[in-house]
Amino acid sequence: MQPIIAMPQMGNDLFRKYMKSKYVQSLARAGAVVRWIDGQDPQKAAREAAACDGLLLPGGADIAPERYGQPPTENSGKPNAIRDEAEWQMLAAFLDTGKPVFAICRGMQFVNVFFGGTLFQDIKEKQQYRHMDFFSRASSCHPVSIEPNSLLYRLWQTEKTEVNSMHHQAIDTLGKGLRVSAKSGDGFAEAIETPEYPFLLGVQWHPEHMSRKSEQQQRLFDAFVRECANR
Ligand code: MN
Repeated sequence: MQPIIAMPQMGNDLFRKYMKSKYVQSLARAGAVVRWIDGQDPQKAAREAAACDGLLLPGGADIAPERYGQPPTENSGKPNAIRDEAEWQMLAAFLDTGKPVFAICRGMQFVNVFFGGTLFQDIKEKQQYRHMDFFSRASSCHPVSIEPNSLLYRLWQTEKTEVNSMHHQAIDTLGKGLRVSAKSGDGFAEAIETPEYPFLLGVQWHPEHMSRKSEQQQRLFDAFVRECANR
């Protein structure tokens, strides 16, 4: 049986179809299939997600800053209230099951906010590298260093690597129980995990755009799907 991975519906316009296909292909190479969960009814979405083998929270719009107790600043993007609420309930239901969670970009930020952390609403003035670079999405655009003794290190066996980057927000204060397992060269959290949950991995970059050419990036999907199959 192929593991079924729940993902929140990201929309069906041409751009999102393209973005969605990258997740689908990366998960397919790992041996899993995607079930897109419609968020219009958040409680139904939570039930549907919890019935799947794994949850992947993907990239997308900025999270409403009210979720972490801040008024929006002028550089914060337009939030998607329906998706915020659906993902909140999906993640809550999913964590109760103990099944694996993989969170990418907005997904990683969402996990941090869910666990009580906050975000920088815009890092343009703080960054030393370009963290918003759509055109280098299949290669890489800034260095990251990885914490030894982390899940990410166990998967990658390296302390230095380069990743792509398509975000203008980043983790500020860390959510309760989380640890930062990778940082960018200019100090932003690029991966999070927690020893308090069987498999919860968040990355700030987009492995789904690098995984076709990078065996190392594909390994993140492989490990996630393997965990889903083993439970
Ligand atoms: Mn980055």
